[in-house]
Amino acid sequence: MQPDQKTIAPRRIFVVEDDLNLAEELKIQLSYFGYEVTVFNTLKAFRLALQQTDAVVVLMDVTFPGDSLGGVKLMYELQQGREVPVPVVFLSSHDEFNTRLEAVRAGGIAYLIKPVNIGNLVDKLDSLTSTKPVAPYRVMIVDDSLALTAYHSAVLEQAGMEVKAINDPLKVADMLPEFSPDLILIDLYMPECSGLELVKVIRQLDAFVSIPIVFLSAESNIDKQNIAMGLGGDDFLTKPIEPQHLISSVTNRIRRSMMLRSFMVRDSLTGLLNHTAIKDMLDGEVAWAMRHKKPLSFAMVDIDLFKLVNDNHGHPAGDRVIKSLSRLLRQRLRSSDLVGRYGGEEFAVVLVDADAAAAMKVLDTIRNDFSRLRHLSGANEFRVTFSCGVADISEFPDAARLCDAADKALYKAKLAGRNQVALADHPSPADKTDQ
Ligand code: GH3
Ligand code: MG
Ligand code: MG
Repeated sequence: MQPDQKTIAPRRIFVVEDDLNLAEELKIQLSYFGYEVTVFNTLKAFRLALQQTDAVVVLMDVTFPGDSLGGVKLMYELQQGREVPVPVVFLSSHDEFNTRLEAVRAGGIAYLIKPVNIGNLVDKLDSLTSTKPVAPYRVMIVDDSLALTAYHSAVLEQAGMEVKAINDPLKVADMLPEFSPDLILIDLYMPECSGLELVKVIRQLDAFVSIPIVFLSAESNIDKQNIAMGLGGDDFLTKPIEPQHLISSVTNRIRRSMMLRSFMVRDSLTGLLNHTAIKDMLDGEVAWAMRHKKPLSFAMVDIDLFKLVNDNHGHPAGDRVIKSLSRLLRQRLRSSDLVGRYGGEEFAVVLVDADAAAAMKVLDTIRNDFSRLRHLSGANEFRVTFSCGVADISEFPDAARLCDAADKALYKAKLAGRNQVALADHPSPADKTDQ
């Protein structure tokens, strides 16, 4: 939940391309996606620069004047003697198997045919340069024994997990949205409310129907264990448990459920959170921000006159525009921010720890960069813009009001001529008190 954990590796690109127009174009377009591009005019300068760095991806033209495989041969030579080969994306006007083979031998990780589709190129580069740290697994432990919760917490924390221990089962429902665990570990027998009752309650909360729940109990009677599983538990571990066994059981459960969940919460075209997922997560983030008195903003983004893009350039070109905007949003926002595909050409963004002024500034930069991207459809080139509405929780202190305010602000931006970011109007006094 904390902002700015993202450590960005230098996203440096070396371009060796004798078509100077293409080289310049790559430099400009890639800079919008946060890449720092150096174009080399002489091979000597390129060799020298490459000797001095590892943290770079090379974009290499396959063909040099007078040598149809010049670029591949050069890279093959330069890779010799390097401990780790430098990743190379080859650019070529021809698609031939033999050339592709030579390219792979020369360290090619991609082979793109000209005219270069910037979207494909950025996908490749992103997958190579992404250094986003994986967030630690979050485990909630519910057990009335203080000693045992402390012990199990320590075991899981030492394995790098984030743990919330709760000794009073009646507090679980309140803590769930805010802590948003990846797995819940529950003691079967507790005085206030049994583990079985607690699981039933949790399974009735929409957002937690599918969260992995593991019982941890001294109960060794298999029949009783089966009853617990039948009621919505996913696994049963018996106390006392070896630390290593606890860690591996929890890790495996979480990994599997995350994989399954990623199919459910992700939009297939863009890989962003889908409508339901972003709304669920907005609820959790708003609760957390209110409780910790931190700012939070919500923004709705809608592509301008998108119907025309489809009409003029075709649906596949429209899809590529949607993907390029989703990529840009994900890249430019912090990893702690949430980005979702809200509808067809509509996106929702939750900016944590940012008030409306800060959010507007970031989104306006993205708006400006997006408007400069050149989209290709066959031989045609076109540009697209978006409009955006922003609201923050200082004026709209719950998820429903935030959504409504951001939506109205978006409408305002459209009315005012599109390609702009608008701030939500102050709520009327009646709205403010209408809890
Ligand atoms: P405005 O500036 O007012 O937002 O105009 P607009 O044309 O963007 O708005 P409208 O809501 O009239 O049209 C949105 C279009 O987006 C209609 C729909 O066919 C198209 N669309 C929705 N989802 C997708 C998608 O996944 N791919 C493509 N290519 N088009 C989509
Ligand atoms: Mg639109
Ligand atoms: Mg729309």
